[in-house]
Amino acid sequence: MQTLTVDLGDRSYPIYIGEGLLARPELFKPHLAGRQVAIVTNETVAPLYLDLLQQSLSGQDIATVVLPDGEVFKTWETLQLIFDGLLQARHDRKTTIIALGGGVVGDMAGFAAACYQRGVDFIQVPTTLLSQVDSSVGGKTGINHPLGKNMVGAFYQPNAVIIDTTVLNTLPAKELSAGLAEVIKYGLICDPQFLGWLEEHVESLRELQPAALIEAIQRSCAAKARVVGADERESGLRAILNLGHTFGHAIETHMGYGEWLHGEAVAAGTVMALEMSSRLGWISAAERDRGIRLLVRAGLPVVPPAEMRPEDFLEHMAVDKKVLDGRLRLVLLKGLGEAVITDDFPREVLDATLRADYR
Ligand code: NAD
Ligand code: MG
Repeated sequence: MQTLTVDLGDRSYPIYIGEGLLARPELFKPHLAGRQVAIVTNETVAPLYLDLLQQSLSGQDIATVVLPDGEVFKTWETLQLIFDGLLQARHDRKTTIIALGGGVVGDMAGFAAACYQRGVDFIQVPTTLLSQVDSSVGGKTGINHPLGKNMVGAFYQPNAVIIDTTVLNTLPAKELSAGLAEVIKYGLICDPQFLGWLEEHVESLRELQPAALIEAIQRSCAAKARVVGADERESGLRAILNLGHTFGHAIETHMGYGEWLHGEAVAAGTVMALEMSSRLGWISAAERDRGIRLLVRAGLPVVPPAEMRPEDFLEHMAVDKKVLDGRLRLVLLKGLGEAVITDDFPREVLDATLRADYR
């Protein structure tokens, strides 16, 4: 098992990464506030892993809330189901909410923990690769509003993140690849050595080799923890985590959520960011192609949807939250492993990037 710490002063917390951690009661016990525990999960994950987690918590007074599965349920109405479950079971301020599931469950359970009785203890048990390397770390929680994704939420840090790599055995391959898009992102934005390591191990990761998974998750969480530790509330640096996301969000929005997985849209968006960085002369064509090749080997799409015109991208990017004072800020690369957040680029280069032929 690997342990690392997210350093946030008195709100610091450990991340445990290893095989079979769901069956290790001693990892959970020190992070429980009292006897009451509320497990929040969903219809897909519950039949797979709920029993195992309940066994590790035996002796506790356990309530379980099983939510419907899907991003469309990341809503106010579903959040109420969590509060219903907690209140019906008479959980008080000393309860501990445990999120067992992917990013959707984690974001909702975390927001519920931030709100219930003005804040209760919270443990993340992420079960998708994306949630293990991204959403469970950093304290962003929330739900969607009909007018925008993740528009209602709170910064709320967990007491611990417990990452059991064994659960990835049941994850669909497409979801695994989507998680790899964020893993590769960490290499591209801040860790050139990790990028090299990924080039050697991407097949092992797709084959779910435990040692490779543990190392990739550990290095990804370490990168995210470093960035979040330096800028918890995204006043600056934290935005580098959005490499590929401005282009990617345009793809997700235009295609309709669900058509493209988030990680898939991020992969195609990352290719566009690589393309733009190379057009600016900040990275070489060879470096651009190195990034693209790795994304391909991870099973990810590297060509934006053919039906999307430059105007479509601009329309969606204009409403992106990274537009500040009317200037579009993008995360681009000054080298492989070195991201910058900048609005300092000629408009023609953006236009050329949107018109480029990616096939
Ligand atoms: P998800 O939670 O929808 O999970 C994907 C699918 O996999 C779901 O059908 C889920 O039920 C299923 N699943 C989960 N674990 C499984 C397992 N072990 N075996 C089989 N199936 C399993 O999607 P996700 O990619 O994990 O998370 C996406 C969400 O995360 C989005 O809502 C996004 O906004 C959010 N997010 C939040 C942050 C943050 O910082 N809070 C960061 C990135 C993404
Ligand atoms: Mg993302």
